[in-house]
Amino acid sequence: TIGAVSLDQSGSMVAATSSSGLFMKKAGRVGDSPLSGSGFYVDSEIGGAAATGLGEDLMKGCLSYEIVRLMGEGMHPQEAADKAMYSFHHKLTKRYGKAGAFSLVAMNNKGDWGVATNVEFTFSVANDKEEPAIYIAQMG
Ligand code: ASP
Repeated sequence: TIGAVSLDQSGSMVAATSSSGLFMKKAGRVGDSPLSGSGFYVDSEIGGAAATGLGEDLMKGCLSYEIVRLMGEGMHPQEAADKAMYSFHHKLTKRYGKAGAFSLVAMNNKGDWGVATNVEFTFSVANDKEEPAIYIAQMG
């Protein structure tokens, strides 16, 4: 899955996902990527988030919505992504004994951004404050 969150000069935000789903998925399977709140969520007055990873686990929560909700309470996107990520990871681990791999990107309506993962993933940032760059994030 490719997940993106964007902010334009007028303050409008979008979040988007594009996914082929999981390898060897059953015909007709719908993953988290097209589900608002789970695979993505955005509110231009707050910010947006997008997720990638094991849809069967991501669909057990509304992780993208939760990150936006936490940003709405005043959290920086990094803090919101970390908090949502770790509490969801621990909830899944406690309930099912394990959690699938997932990663998240988030940005608020000021252009501040954050990411979180319980594995490792690659992401890129392009804005007017820093040179476009590609980063690798790891759990922890
Ligand atoms: N989240 C996607 C799905 O479960 C898969 C992915 O992110 O690669 O359909």
